[in-house]
Amino acid sequence: MPNDDGLTIYAEATKRLDEAAKHSKAHEETVERLRLPKQMLEVAIPVRMDDGAQRFFRGFRCRHDDTRGPAKGGIRYHPDVTAGEVRTLAFWMTFKCATVGIPFGGGKGGVVVNPRELSKAELERLSRGYIRAIADAIGPLVDVPAPDVYTNAQVMAWMVDEYAQIVRARTPAVITGKPVALGGSLGRDDATARGGFNIVREHASREGWDPKKRTVAVQGFGNAGQHFAKLLADDGYKVVAVSDSRGGVHNPDGLDVDAQLEHKLGKGKLSTKNAKDISNEDLLELECDILAPAALEDVITKSNAKNVQAKMIVELANGPLTADADKILFKNGQLVVPDILANAGGVTVSYFEWTQNLRGEYWKLDRVHERLNEIMVREFAAVKARSTEHEIDMRTACYAHALDRLAEAHEATGTGDDFKA
Ligand code: NAD
Repeated sequence: MPNDDGLTIYAEATKRLDEAAKHSKAHEETVERLRLPKQMLEVAIPVRMDDGAQRFFRGFRCRHDDTRGPAKGGIRYHPDVTAGEVRTLAFWMTFKCATVGIPFGGGKGGVVVNPRELSKAELERLSRGYIRAIADAIGPLVDVPAPDVYTNAQVMAWMVDEYAQIVRARTPAVITGKPVALGGSLGRDDATARGGFNIVREHASREGWDPKKRTVAVQGFGNAGQHFAKLLADDGYKVVAVSDSRGGVHNPDGLDVDAQLEHKLGKGKLSTKNAKDISNEDLLELECDILAPAALEDVITKSNAKNVQAKMIVELANGPLTADADKILFKNGQLVVPDILANAGGVTVSYFEWTQNLRGEYWKLDRVHERLNEIMVREFAAVKARSTEHEIDMRTACYAHALDRLAEAHEATGTGDDFKA
């Protein structure tokens, strides 16, 4: 990618709009409006380091669109963060929230930093400094941040505390992904994986699949991948392969997922007991029913898509398939559940957290699971129906489905057609 602060990535991402518009009722004004973010803030965050020196970190917050509700999206700490990447992620959030019909728009934030090089105290000062810098652009009814790459519940705790000091009022609904003690929701930890799992279960029941006879491979054994593997294994599926950044393990008769989880948590790596090594590349091409890329972007491309054998590909990671790969898999009749639907369980439970904070009323775990399942199954069914009806791949169907919802909101105040003399 060219060194252009990520603007090429944004231009690529917004091409989806034109494709979706062909299958949506959206007015051209809505499409044009969604091409540009509503607000893009760039800030310099001064941080006093432990050695006494002051360093300045570059930070961003983007509110892409907030017509359907306050913007929603995580904050990423990474040395490669660019303005264009933050805009792109905010654009995706607009479509993700509209896909599942939760009353949020799209937002995203980022700071250019390698958090591993900072002490804990420096990380706290940076997190509080970032909130001071963007405080005017966020709020429970304006833009609601959450964790993303290299930020977590601890970082959210510092941020929500800093915001309370700025506005002189406890305001838990300004940030989600908080520790439960500070107003976080039960069920947030496995929400992303559970949303994907709910879709798999729905598809399996439509297809008459017997879980015991179905095999699963998961690339990436982090938050999303671990929970996904565990939920499927507990439901009777045979999880035949999992992997992390060092490579994977494979057993065609099924891995012991609990033992792998224990080994990964205890020893920091996967176990080869009753399993053989497999590379991350080979894992993607395994004979299996369900494949979940849950690690990185662009892992299934023009060059390996034709070798992917899974009947169903569940994109738990953001952007694991390229546009060329999409076309090949669609032609082969393989079902791709696109990221903005497959991994929307996380933002959906963030929405539950926000509503609980606003009402000051907290839900039991069963209620979180039940409502999440309801939303995921309903939206998967709608996207699947559109894909069948228009004979288009699931990603295009998903963007068109989201665009229709966005259009309804944008066009409720009128378009050029309404104002013509
Ligand atoms: P994580 O950091 O907890 O886990 C990532 C996993 O990927 C780790 O096991 C890591 O070892 C593995 N990995 C890294 N490089 C790899 C490589 N080259 N090959 C194979 N595996 C590799 O992250 P996460 O929260 O599980 O997120 C994973 C993906 O899911 C990301 O794309 C993220 O944006 C997306 N996602 C996560 C959530 C969430 O709530 N956690 C929500 C939406 C989307």
